[in-house]
Amino acid sequence: MSNSKIWLSSPHMGGGEQKYVQEAFDTNWVAPLGPNVVGFEQDLEKYLGNDVFVGALSSGTAALHIALILLGVKRDDEVICQSMTFSASANPIVYQGAIPVFVDSEKETWNMCPNALEDAIKDRVAKGKTPKAIIAVHLYGMPFKADEIRAVADKYGIPIIEDSAEALGSSYKGQNCGTFGDISILSFNGNKIITTSGGGAIVTKTQAQKDKAVFLSTQARDNAPHYQHSEIGYNYRMSNICAGIGRGQMEVLDKHIDLRRAMHDFYIEVFKNVEGVTVFSEPNTDFYSNHWLSAILIDPKTFKNKTREDLRVALEIDNIESRPLWKPMHLQPVFEGCNYYGGIVSETLFENGLCLPSGSNLSDEDRKIIKMRLNQF
Ligand SMILES: *Cc1c(COP(=O)(O)O)cnc(C)c1O
Repeated sequence: MSNSKIWLSSPHMGGGEQKYVQEAFDTNWVAPLGPNVVGFEQDLEKYLGNDVFVGALSSGTAALHIALILLGVKRDDEVICQSMTFSASANPIVYQGAIPVFVDSEKETWNMCPNALEDAIKDRVAKGKTPKAIIAVHLYGMPFKADEIRAVADKYGIPIIEDSAEALGSSYKGQNCGTFGDISILSFNGNKIITTSGGGAIVTKTQAQKDKAVFLSTQARDNAPHYQHSEIGYNYRMSNICAGIGRGQMEVLDKHIDLRRAMHDFYIEVFKNVEGVTVFSEPNTDFYSNHWLSAILIDPKTFKNKTREDLRVALEIDNIESRPLWKPMHLQPVFEGCNYYGGIVSETLFENGLCLPSGSNLSDEDRKIIKMRLNQF
């Protein structure tokens, strides 16, 4: 094969980005604040609706860290986290000196299982440690079961941090992902549905919470002519340059979602007569996924006696990038010894699942090559 590399998900510029970045240069707003930051935050607030407040930060990870601080998570507190996710969902728990408690997924959305969540809370409460927060994730853009997770969280009075890093533009029962948490976060890393080259956002329900997030993210300077500090601060604000890229990306977000969703439809078509392959899809019309990444689940017993690793390696040889699903956190060496609640859903998904090229910038030629290679496998 001599095709050039077909990526899983690569940055896709819309054209308007450079105008905003140029403006920042022209006005010398080359700083971690400025009109693009304000403009990008307003664009996101308008897009998300539901009267939320958005603070643009340096990364989704930083936003999760600030969210935990805002919810008062401290040393030796316990925080529940979806096990099947990217490590960035869980790492900020440890930044705070707190202890992650991992929870399994359910099979329909691959996200946090409401039953396993309740089992976990009951057991932690019985052991005298009521969890301080629940971090639930919309994996690959698929909304988690927001009503059921909310019902469990409210029953025990525990706030939800909604990790919507992969789900900008997804919705559940018509409500946008990024507005379900007591605090929510977004990511604009290079491989996400839109990018600012690197960046994230915190989404809050009140202006006061947003102000506090921005205060903590800009070194926690008290109101004084000199530098005065009564709290530990962080350098987590988004720069005006990155926000300029974000403003340009917001102009093409909906178009990019359509293209990502078309990639999902493409894989439905490719695999429609292939036994042993399920394309990850919305369980019903309550769920609307941006299909940030298209993923498949292989049944090795019926799929040509091959595993997902056989397929991944074959694609790699053909210069086509694919990737196993997120390896659950309770199986990661770094989180060895952490408590885990649930069964083997996330473990099985990891064993048999594969993400396929999903970018909004893939060409017809790319799709032709992908289809041919998948058919020949
Ligand atoms: C990308 C991602 C993050 C972290 O975002 P960054 O902007 O890369 O720090 C957090 N959670 C999930 C689920 C992600 O996919």
